[in-house]
Amino acid sequence: MTATRIRRRAPRPISTKPGYKFDRPILVVEDQISVAEYTAALLKNRWNCEIIMADSLRAAKETLKSATPAIQVAICDLNLPDAPYGEVVDLMNEYGVAVIALTGAYGEELRASLNKKGVVDYIPKDSVNAYEYAVTLAGRVQKNYHTSVLIVDDSLSARALYKHMSELLRFRVFTANDGKEALEILKQRPEISLVLTDYAMPEMDGYELTAKARSKYSKDQLAIIGISGGAGEEISSNFLKCGANDYLAKPFSYQEFICRIHQNLDMLDLIQANRDAAQRDFLTGLNRRYFFEAANQIYANARKKKHGLVAAMIDLDLFKLINDKYGHDCGDLVIKHFASLLKKYLGTNLIARVGGEEFAVLLDVIKPDDARKLFEELRLAVKNSAVDFGTAKISYTISVGLCDQLGETIDDLIKGADVALYKAKDNNRDQVFGLD
Ligand code: GH3
Ligand code: MG
Ligand code: MG
Repeated sequence: MTATRIRRRAPRPISTKPGYKFDRPILVVEDQISVAEYTAALLKNRWNCEIIMADSLRAAKETLKSATPAIQVAICDLNLPDAPYGEVVDLMNEYGVAVIALTGAYGEELRASLNKKGVVDYIPKDSVNAYEYAVTLAGRVQKNYHTSVLIVDDSLSARALYKHMSELLRFRVFTANDGKEALEILKQRPEISLVLTDYAMPEMDGYELTAKARSKYSKDQLAIIGISGGAGEEISSNFLKCGANDYLAKPFSYQEFICRIHQNLDMLDLIQANRDAAQRDFLTGLNRRYFFEAANQIYANARKKKHGLVAAMIDLDLFKLINDKYGHDCGDLVIKHFASLLKKYLGTNLIARVGGEEFAVLLDVIKPDDARKLFEELRLAVKNSAVDFGTAKISYTISVGLCDQLGETIDDLIKGADVALYKAKDNNRDQVFGLD
């Protein structure tokens, strides 16, 4: 028996935005098989998404008709055997699909006409990195469908222009007339990831908006891009000093707009992905660091409101024997098996893997009797299940320690559960101890 074996780490802000999972296939319309396959391989490698290929306008049409869920993004060759003049764009428009166009032909006139038709972007096939760029853009646009941006400008025409460009990129768009309105929308719409703001506005200007928004949302939670006009002015540097992530200098092209906006959103995603990776236990998907951050908040709230809070420590019984007899891989399988049962029975609560075969649960607003019942159910479910390992069927049991004595800090509560757990172990294991 050891003392409390949980080492806690410093609290960090809890992120509420989970990483994006591709739930829709991306369509590749291309008649040259080798090019289609190359594009598909790049897509798979970059985004790990499902890919559907079509080698003609007809095939593309059949695909769009039957695809469930509906396709939202396509990389399209504009020159197809049965549609040599970019007719594929009209087809995609009919189905509301965002098009990234690749073509051998090049000309400003073509680009202008394609932009008018709502093509996301137009990439000459012979440009450097054409396919890498198309693939990166396709995934980004797929994510944009789930990304909200807020445009803040008092000029109706400017607002309409930025809104149009944002909608081409498939963002969910909100607009505000000035900083004050923008702050209100930010409060109501926590899903907004990016703010694009003008400087000079009535009521509250872009600097004040940036500074105020920044005091509430960190740079890796909310990207702010300031729009500055006129050469030689200090607007862009002032924006950065107020806490903006970046700026766009007027006049800017649609291409510049795409690059700046996407670059800033990619940065948010990258930070989020790193944070997720750091917080999630790779074996069980349960989140240790998150547990302690959130536990602190729940604990503080329970003390204030004086409602019941129960901590549980769970440990797999004689787990070492399983490792010794069947090997470490089998042990891992059993840990995963237990994690899935734990999620099934107590998944609405805060749970984490806190050690090798140790788990913690925090049950908020609960009566001791109800908590005991829940863990009894879990204990029996574990006891009555078996893990298939080759031809062997592995059975195992758990011991659970419960505590509802809040003490002085969250550590006291968890320590109480730990003490109860070791009483359960001393009492012959396979039981729930505490709360009586
Ligand atoms: P008790 O009922 O007293 O808890 O007995 P036990 O054998 O479960 O306890 P002990 O703490 O002695 O052994 C736990 C073992 O779990 C030791 C360690 O090698 C193993 N272990 C820790 N983490 C992992 C893991 O991620 N995978 C596997 N397969 N084994 C692990
Ligand atoms: Mg054990
Ligand atoms: Mg142990």
